[in-house]
Amino acid sequence: MTFQFPKPEFISLPIQGSDNGFSVNHVYCVGRNYAAHAREMGVDDKEPPLFFSKPNWTIVTPGTDIDYPADTENLNHEVELVIAVGEDKSIFGFGVGVDLTRRDLQTKAKNEGKPWFRSKCFAGSAPVSEIIPIGDRTDFSGFNLTLTVNGKVKQMGSCNDMIWNPGEIMCELAGEVPLQAGDLIFTGTPEGVGKLEKGDDVVISIPELVELSFKIC
Ligand code: MN
Repeated sequence: MTFQFPKPEFISLPIQGSDNGFSVNHVYCVGRNYAAHAREMGVDDKEPPLFFSKPNWTIVTPGTDIDYPADTENLNHEVELVIAVGEDKSIFGFGVGVDLTRRDLQTKAKNEGKPWFRSKCFAGSAPVSEIIPIGDRTDFSGFNLTLTVNGKVKQMGSCNDMIWNPGEIMCELAGEVPLQAGDLIFTGTPEGVGKLEKGDDVVISIPELVELSFKIC
């Protein structure tokens, strides 16, 4: 069959140590997956994982700066471990990313009982590092996440503090969606989320494993 329109081009992330690209399929996210961040957002109990998604055009590949988005005066950073899904619902690898959020739009949507869509889905809202193949790592609990703005540490957390670990997240999510190779899962942010301004230099990392930097323009 021929198609009326050409297929859109894949958005692809580099894979460390490989010439292959990781073509990004669907992008899923978990909200409030660290108790201290849930508290700073005003929620206090362990609840089932809260999933939402971002279109894959929100992905920003390494080496690309990000334009400050329209319609917000409170752009927030949320540094997160990102799981790269492989075949048969396996974990292919991981990276580090930022779930950029127009917090003022999110607060308004929450107050009005409306969807988060506009607060989470905008051009440039999902910068992600290269993907590190999982290799023989079986456990993410020793991973730390850091985010600095203009050289100052703003977020520093441990994946050991996740309410739902990556394996549990994959299990829960696979029960709700057809999880496929190429999917990415943002696994939630530790505490310390805060404001970004035009001109800020942001560096995120899982120390000794992967780092990503970008500027807000
Ligand atoms: Mn998030």
